[in-house]
Amino acid sequence: MAGKGQHTDTLLAQALGWLEETTGGVTPAIQPATTYVRDPAMPASEGLWYSRPDNPCYWQVEALLAELEHAEAAMVTGSGSASMAMVFEALHTGNHVLMPHYGYGGIHYLIGDMINAWGIEIDTYTTGDLDDMAAKLRPGVTKIVWVETPSNAELVIVDVERVAELAHEAGARVVVDATFAPPPIQRVLDQGADIVLHSATKFLNGHSDVVCGTIATRVKDDYWHRLDRMRMRSGAMLGPFEAWLLLRGLRTLHLRMEQAQRNAQKVAAFLDSHTGVTKVYYPGLPSHPTHTMAKRLMTGFGAMVSFEVDGDEAYALRVWGATKLIKNATSLGGPETLIEHRRSSDAYDSPVPVNQLRLSIGLEDGDDLIADLDAALAGRTSNRPMADATKMAQGLGWTSSDHKAVVLPLHLASTYATDPASYGKPYAYARDQNPTYEQPEALIAELEEGEQARLFGSGMAAASAVFQALKAGDHVVMQETLYWALRGLMASVVEGWGIEVTWFPTGDLDALQEAVRPGETRIVWLETPANPTMTVTDIAAATAIAREAGAVSVVDNTFATPLHCRPLTLGADIVMHSATKYLNGHSDIVAGVLIARETTPFWEHVCHIRHMTGAILGPFEAWLLMRGLRTLGLRVGRASENAMAIALHLEGHDGVAEVLYPGLSSFRGHNIAGSQMSGGFGGMLSIRIKGGEAGARKAWARFKLFKIASSLGGVESLVEHRATVEGPESPVPDDLLRLSVGVEHVDDLIADLEQALQKLG
Ligand SMILES: *Cc1c(COP(=O)(O)O)cnc(C)c1O
Repeated sequence: MAGKGQHTDTLLAQALGWLEETTGGVTPAIQPATTYVRDPAMPASEGLWYSRPDNPCYWQVEALLAELEHAEAAMVTGSGSASMAMVFEALHTGNHVLMPHYGYGGIHYLIGDMINAWGIEIDTYTTGDLDDMAAKLRPGVTKIVWVETPSNAELVIVDVERVAELAHEAGARVVVDATFAPPPIQRVLDQGADIVLHSATKFLNGHSDVVCGTIATRVKDDYWHRLDRMRMRSGAMLGPFEAWLLLRGLRTLHLRMEQAQRNAQKVAAFLDSHTGVTKVYYPGLPSHPTHTMAKRLMTGFGAMVSFEVDGDEAYALRVWGATKLIKNATSLGGPETLIEHRRSSDAYDSPVPVNQLRLSIGLEDGDDLIADLDAALAGRTSNRPMADATKMAQGLGWTSSDHKAVVLPLHLASTYATDPASYGKPYAYARDQNPTYEQPEALIAELEEGEQARLFGSGMAAASAVFQALKAGDHVVMQETLYWALRGLMASVVEGWGIEVTWFPTGDLDALQEAVRPGETRIVWLETPANPTMTVTDIAAATAIAREAGAVSVVDNTFATPLHCRPLTLGADIVMHSATKYLNGHSDIVAGVLIARETTPFWEHVCHIRHMTGAILGPFEAWLLMRGLRTLGLRVGRASENAMAIALHLEGHDGVAEVLYPGLSSFRGHNIAGSQMSGGFGGMLSIRIKGGEAGARKAWARFKLFKIASSLGGVESLVEHRATVEGPESPVPDDLLRLSVGVEHVDDLIADLEQALQKLG
């Protein structure tokens, strides 16, 4: 359950910390049922009866949205337009509504095509001009004053507080479309608005893959109850899958907004100084007419930037067409940056100047965006290679070949119609030929600087494929401390295939040198930092020993991720990940991946094994993995920062005997870690508790915010007493707790640790 007073970052990362009722799952179930078995004695108003009015998939996301908006209630709808339409549907003939003269284009069609016909009277006021608005208010008759802030497309910040005073005096409600600046950037209900709505398609979901809307209310009054009934009556509900994806998207909202706003500020400053640009609209620029208002009402300036080029419409259209990295596409709020000539897309009597372009700034590397715009303004196309942040945000920039979609489709076909002349090319059967794999495999290979990647049904399936490629009599060398199930796999399965395993003390290169048998050892298996002691191995030195002995070196890079460490560049032949962990990062799929530095006969045999044994990843999971990868850099960055802060905080703590974290200069492997890792040391750390096993178990049971759960690498923090989990044969010290640090606010995590570590003696 969410504790009161938690930071928004924490509420988002944990989605209020709700657990699945029957299983304790940290991710909610998807409930596609349309109907529910009922007790005839139950009053008609109680419980679930049909999935149009309500769905269990709505509850957590609606509670989170309400918390986020400081609302008494929130509701998800089928689209932003559905949310807008419902606001009018809940009115009556003869009601009067005041609208800004320019805003989101769709509302004009909605009014023209439908709302006028319902006998609702609409007047417009000049966007942001409150005198004009006040003059048109009709006390007792005006029911709604509509505000869009920041407004489309010039990003005017409207003084919501003043609008609310004026509207409330006249007995009208204030409805704010806050799509461009979602909470926590601005909380319009705290500023007097009565209703806030979003096209949640945009920043709230943030992955360009769900069309959805939200409505939230400051008070649950009669109007709200009418609105609530509208979803059931007119049926503009959200699908359960989409509600689930929206919740998943919200878990990174804080990280996404931070990065997008950082980029927007940079891009706006660049455009502002560019001679080919006459005007830049960004509330974060001191020159913006409503900059001061933005500073008063908002905690950030959003990620939308508009600008006018020094030239005519033809020049604006040329610039629009010349960006390469920045996609020419409508919509906004996704991980990828988009550019649009609004005047063309408005397609009605739009007041937008013909030389204006609108940017929705995404999560890429800010300098890549600037280089792209710089080239486009000069009539060139940039050939700059993508930075990692850009590769992740854009999924390498791939769009679908059929529709130019910015998110690639989920292919469910198990078989493909084929041409007998080229049978099976490029696809024959979907055991391991599925186009859904291609983008995540290419991106992971790129990030690891390998030639090829192959997805598997789990990390264990990926690891198994390596050993399945051996034959009886082969010799394998493995480090003693490593992911526990891998030890189990060797003892209970792989040794049964006649493969001999020699274990060596983790990180000890002399021992490794002694363990390898030149010409006989086929695999040297490394994991660094190692689970759960965080012991560090010198990858370059260890893989050199393997190479000299003629063995293939494999590094389990699950803990470090390619953001912090790239074993293939240090001499490893194959990298393995449990993609269940950081790569996917949302604790909702089990997946594995292998990456090869280069294609060798051994690697091809491993690929063949996936094909033969069928330990494949499901297409839906591959699609979700790709979605997760778009925020990998942001998630790992925050987790590492949080872990470092926690490690420093706990070093020398009364209740803690030792902090095991490669980022601490006191840690034994710190120097090697520092030389082979970059940008941070990861989100995993272990602590040894004073008071031995009893103390550790006592502390473990006390955690509230850290979930007491296995696994790691998700957006939510987890804690585990590994000795208990691994059982009596585990070499893990029994006073050790392993933390998987998530992307919550670090102060909340430290507060939870503090209360868990009190008086353990
Ligand atoms: C989880 C994990 C694995 C196993 O992966 P699964 O996806 O659970 O099969 C292997 N290595 C490490 C370091 C892990 O954390």
